[in-house]
This record gives sequence, structure tokens and C-alpha cells, in this order.
Amino acid sequence: LDRNKVSGRLTDIDLSENAKAVLAKRYLKKNEQGEVLEAPIDMFRRVASNIAEGEYKFREGDEARALYEEWNEKFLQMMLSRKFMPNSPTLMNAGRELQQLSACFVLPVEDSIDGIYDTLKHQAVIHKSGGGTGFGFSRLRPKNDIVKSTMGVSSGPVSFMAVFDASTEHIKQGGTRRGANMGILRVDHPDIEEFITCKNDNEKINNFNISVAITDEFMESVRNDTDFDLVNPRDGKVMKTVRARDLFEKIVHGAWLNGEPGVVFIDKIDGDNPTPQFPIESTNPCSEAHLPPYDSCNLGSINLERFVRSADGSDATLADGNTSGEVRIDWDELRETVHTAVRFLDNVIEQNNYPLAEIDAMSRGNRRIGLGVMGFADALIQLGITYDSEEGLAFAEKIMKFVDDEAWAASKKLAEERGVMPNFEGSRHEKRGLRARNATVTTIAPTGTISMIAGCSGGIEPLFAVAFMRRQADMEMPDVNPEFVRLAKERGFYSEELMKKVAEHGSVRDIEEVPEDVRNVWVVSHDISPEWHVRMQAAFQKHTSMGISKTINLPNEATTKDVEDAYMMAFDTGCKGVAVYRDGSRDAQVLSTGATG
Ligand code: UDP
Repeated sequence: LDRNKVSGRLTDIDLSENAKAVLAKRYLKKNEQGEVLEAPIDMFRRVASNIAEGEYKFREGDEARALYEEWNEKFLQMMLSRKFMPNSPTLMNAGRELQQLSACFVLPVEDSIDGIYDTLKHQAVIHKSGGGTGFGFSRLRPKNDIVKSTMGVSSGPVSFMAVFDASTEHIKQGGTRRGANMGILRVDHPDIEEFITCKNDNEKINNFNISVAITDEFMESVRNDTDFDLVNPRDGKVMKTVRARDLFEKIVHGAWLNGEPGVVFIDKIDGDNPTPQFPIESTNPCSEAHLPPYDSCNLGSINLERFVRSADGSDATLADGNTSGEVRIDWDELRETVHTAVRFLDNVIEQNNYPLAEIDAMSRGNRRIGLGVMGFADALIQLGITYDSEEGLAFAEKIMKFVDDEAWAASKKLAEERGVMPNFEGSRHEKRGLRARNATVTTIAPTGTISMIAGCSGGIEPLFAVAFMRRQADMEMPDVNPEFVRLAKERGFYSEELMKKVAEHGSVRDIEEVPEDVRNVWVVSHDISPEWHVRMQAAFQKHTSMGISKTINLPNEATTKDVEDAYMMAFDTGCKGVAVYRDGSRDAQVLSTGATG
């Protein structure tokens, strides 16, 4: 990396071939002929300078210019060193015509044709600008309910969801990716059974993830095996009474079948809503952002792997391991990065070109930001900590508490400089005397693309595989994590035969030729029991303002009881929602290990 440094500052970014390919395809400026007009470093310069321009919104003249220069450089260095990446829309659109910088939006769905079709249009506008949308359909009257004006009958939430789905099919997000949606229905809505099964067929409503909004009352009812009322949202009348356990089993069965629906624990989410004047009715597509209608959230993630240091202060690598306990986290540097990232994300709110006036007002009023982490699994491996261990959980809590505490400290400092959030009055922050600039500060996103750009493991997920079999030119080839290859060579257990065996297994946990200390830390998703996946999610949730994007992976042979246990445990441990995935339960799985694919 030193070759890219001038007086301690980076002059270029160290990107993998995959990262370069993704950037060229979807992120970099192009001309009308489709020729790429900027190098990756130009993109980072464009983003840093555009976001630093936010400084001019608060100060004037020389003072503003000095702040701009200071933060432009800090923002740039934070990205070039791959310590922090903003969400994809910011990378794509900052400093360009679109200037739409947020990944997450929630839109209202009113119980009227005008309301529904206004929102349909707004969905298209948001998708076009590169954002994902979430909807709560619970205010819609149920299927076959009366429509007074026509003396006809309503077609219900699921049929309208299909309309939103069909429209999505035709609008590409920012011209680069297909639109993503979240559809949520409350568990006490009369159409809940139809909703739960609407995605049983893998070909249906493909542009939506769906989640059932589960209430505390429903969970009580499941526990006590009592009846549960389904209520018409239009007039509050009970339309049907069901056995809560039967309904719960249907939800669990769907999740077991193909991962849909997920669940969100809406009372917990709303109970923690810092802006109760605007109740929360949905989440963004990957469910980490909990938003009231017309709110948005811009995300950014810190790459924890970049803060792991060897004893001599140099960057640790995955091959280092930590048998002697010399590898550690550079907490001071992490603190500084968190503070810079919070300022970056608060500036994003200012610089954003919102797709609707209502979203502009709500976003600037609440100022939700979602700072998260990625590269967690890589950091654990470098530190020599096993993901599914008490030590792993303790480390997760410690580092997330640090990030969250420092993010709040940064938000309070910003409030002194720029004022508290405009919707402070009536907020929980006001009640608690928390004079912060932002309603929320932390959220853990999947980091699907930005982790690839940063070259680290995604979000807080364990590695998918140490190696997997990749089909290339009609041949099955082992594709092994390059750091694992390096480690195997250094430690003297490398052989082509062994790498092939690892690729066929996906995991090294039971491969005796691999030294035990290596087997203990090179853990992959399938090595980890659902219980430990949930425990890890709960550990992070303790110190996160909004939600966590995490998949509870189950083996193919898992039963519905396993899914039920995971849901119950998630509820009991304070998770805000759960999404499970049983290996092989959806047809098109992008990556597969030899053992299961
Ligand atoms: N998202 C989207 N379309 C996609 C992927 C993501 O709209 O194809 C939105 C969605 O709201 C999701 C959020 O972006 O919850 C964050 O996803 P991720 O962290 O994977 O995005 P990245 O910034 O890595 O592209």
C-alpha cells in the first residue's frame, strides 16, 4: 500500500479485480457510448468533495472553505483506505445529476385508490433514482370488503402488492439494478393467511421481500395457545378468530419452505422509535432500517477488518491468526473513523436530492442515519476468535457498543455545532435529554456490494465458504479464499488435493489435515447452528439504533421446529426481526458449496 502514500496520505485505492469490474459496470460515470469516464479514484474524489460541500450549508466564507477542505480530505482518506464505504446510491450519484444518495425509503399505503396509485408512482420515482422501498399494507381494507363509492368489493392488500410488484418489473433502479421492495402486513389483518402464502411459489411477487409484523399480543397468544382476532382496519370489527398457534405455524412453514415470510417484531420496533410522533409501519427491503412513511435513511459501513493491527502496528492479515494474542483493534483510529463517518452521513442528508417534497421534509426533520459495520468475520479470523463462541459474542457486543457510543457522541457534538434535529420536540430524545443531531445513528446493512468493493466479508455475517466449487467453461474448479491459500502455504499444509477437498466441503471444521487452531477460526455460515446465528444478531442489536440485516442459515434437512425455535429465540433475545434461509430451498442460489449445491 505504501506505493500509494504521499506524506502519510493515500493517493490511490487498493481494489480487487472483482471490485474494479463492479465499479466499471455500475458505479463509474459513462458517456452516451457507454465508455467509462472516470477511474475508481475519481469516483471517490467526486463523492468526498460532494459530501464535504455540505459544510457550506452551515458556515460561510473562509470558515466554510476551511471546513470543506478539511473534511474533503478526511472523507477521501476514509474511503481510499477502505475503512468506510457509503451505501451504493451515494457512490453512484453524489456529484452527478441524479444526486439521490439514500438506499432506503418507506412509503404510505392509504386505503383509497388515489392513495394507492400516488404511492405506486412514487415507488417508480424512487426506484428510478436507485433507492429501495418498503410498504406497510395493513391500512388497506381486506379482500371482499365493501367499496362504498361503487358498491363493489375490495381486492385486498395482496392483490395491490402484486400491482406494485408488476410495476417494479419495468423500472430499473438508477438504470442499474432491479427495484427492491419490502411488503409488510400486520399479523392481525384479516388477509394475513393469504399474505403468508403469497410467495410459496418461487415465481410469484419476485420483486418483494415480505414480512409479517408480529405484535407482542400475538406472541403471548402463541405462548398461551389462545385464540387471536383478525380485525378489519377500516372499522375495527373482528372479522375472524383463529388459533394463534395455527397462524404461527403457517408463518413458520412458509419460512421453512423458501425463507418467506420473514417477521418483524413491530411493538419492539415502534417501542424504540425515537420519533413516536411518526409511527413506524414498515422497513426497507433488507429490513435493517425502520422508518415512518416518507422517511429515508442513508447508510454507511465501517470495515472492521481495517482496524486490526499486528504487534508492530502494521495491518494484520487473515493469515496472521492470533495464537499469541498480539493482534488487536486500534480503538483510537476506530473512534476517529466513527466520528468522521457520522459527519459524512449527516452531510449526506443535506446534499441529498430527495425524490419527493414529503420525503425531503421528513428526512431533514428526523435526520436518520445508519452507520453499520462490515468485515466482522474477517476481523474475528485475524484476531483468532471463533464466530460461534462466547468470546465471539463478547467481542461483537464490545465493538458495536463502542461504535454506537461514539456515533452518539459524534451526533451530540454535531448538534452543538449545527443544532438538534428539527423534529426534536415530541421525540424520545427530548424526553431523555439526549440533544442529538440524528434520530438514529446505527443500523447494520447487508453491504452486498460495498463489502465487495471494500474487499471484506459482508456485514456481520460469517464467511459463506472458505472455498467453493465454481463452474467455469464447463469445468468444476475449486475457488479458494486467497488468504486461506496463503495461510496454508505459510503453515505448510497446502496441497492442491486438500484445497479441492475444502472446496467440496465448503467448510474446514471437520478436515483433519487443517491444523486445529485454523479450523476453529475459519468458520463458515453452515458450520454455525441457527441458535448461534440468532445469538450473534441479538448481541449486535443491543447496541444498534435501528435494525440488523442478518440471515439465520439452516441446513437443508432442518425442520419447521428448528425455524420455530429460531423465531422464538429471536423474540426472547430482543431481536427486532428474523429472516431464515434453509439451504437449497430456493431454486436459484447464486453461490453453492460442493456439499449442498
Ligand atoms: N437495496 C436496493 N436494491 C438492491 C440492493 C439494495 O434497493 O438491489 C437497498 C435496500 O434498501 C437495502 C439497502 O439498499 O436494504 C442496503 O443494501 P446493501 O447494504 O446490500 O447495499 P450496498 O450499499 O452494498 O449496495
